[in-house]
Amino acid sequence: MTEEQTIFHKIIQGKIKADIIYQDKYLMAIKDINPQSPVHILIIPKTYIPNSNYINKTNKKLFGYMFYIAIKIAKKIKIDKDGYRIILNCNKNAGQEIFYLHIHLLGGKNLGTLLNNK
Ligand code: 5GP
Repeated sequence: MTEEQTIFHKIIQGKIKADIIYQDKYLMAIKDINPQSPVHILIIPKTYIPNSNYINKTNKKLFGYMFYIAIKIAKKIKIDKDGYRIILNCNKNAGQEIFYLHIHLLGGKNLGTLLNNK
């Protein structure tokens, strides 16, 4: 799949609508269309990176910035005290659906333990 074909590229370009929580020069944070918890936000860089296997010396700062903004949002919407989870899916064993790097910020309820599907 090419950059142009991914939904997130179209959202970044403004060609497909999304519920935007935050954006700046480097990234966009939107509500997930199929939320898995009361808070489910996706943090997506504005430059195309297929997934975390493509993090390198040049773009590693952007990767850190995505986490920084996710945590800033968690604080702003006040889920930081109760807690939240940040998820990154890479390739098929993790069920990555959209091949455009993104992290999930989940919260607003007790999310249980992470490894409950052994
Ligand atoms: P992945 O499995 O690739 O880590 O997660 C992709 C996420 O993107 C899923 O949680 C899915 O619900 C979400 N998603 C897929 N299509 C759209 C869309 O068009 N708009 C929004 N806001 N989220 C989407």
